[in-house]
Amino acid sequence: MDVIRCEVCGATQSLPSLEPRRRAFCYRCKSEVARGATLSLDAPLALCLAALIFWVLANSIPFITLQYGGITQTNRVFTGVSALWMDRQFFLSVLVGMTSIAIPGLQLTLACGLMLALKQGISGDKLRPLSRFLAFIAPGSMPGVYLVGAFVAAVKLSQLATLTPGPGLYCFGAFALFWVLGLGSLDLEAAIKDFRPRRSVR
Ligand SMILES: [Zn+2]
Repeated sequence: MDVIRCEVCGATQSLPSLEPRRRAFCYRCKSEVARGATLSLDAPLALCLAALIFWVLANSIPFITLQYGGITQTNRVFTGVSALWMDRQFFLSVLVGMTSIAIPGLQLTLACGLMLALKQGISGDKLRPLSRFLAFIAPGSMPGVYLVGAFVAAVKLSQLATLTPGPGLYCFGAFALFWVLGLGSLDLEAAIKDFRPRRSVR
């Protein structure tokens, strides 16, 4: 039971925790004093956490193995970025590293943290700067571009070398898929409004 004070007439009243989509009205002036959340963050949170796990895996295990002329070379996701850097393609290297690896990882970590904070009842007003920052970095996050680039490179290289996909490639694919599903199903602005904690006078 929470003790709530009506913002209109000031009457205090105890309320049980509200089921989703239920509203409670003041016993005296009949104005709305509380409402249950209408959105569930369970699905976006689970999808974003899955994306984050696959992001860690994709970055830590072999992505692709190249064999040419008796030489075997195992590449990780980051190998492509460092190869561009070595090739003095600094701008492209930073661009690929940021848009495919760094920003999506940061975006997922912040989104998961925000959802957990909202579920813990932390006021959406305190979280608003973080949600604005998330919206600001969102256009710079495009892990799918890396996959397309990797496939184009693989098609070109397949005439010269034998390519074997590593587990990291599948993990990167799963990461990109869960990234789209998780962040696509999350309406942060609506969730922040919805998860406003009730005013308690206890
Ligand atoms: Zn009232």
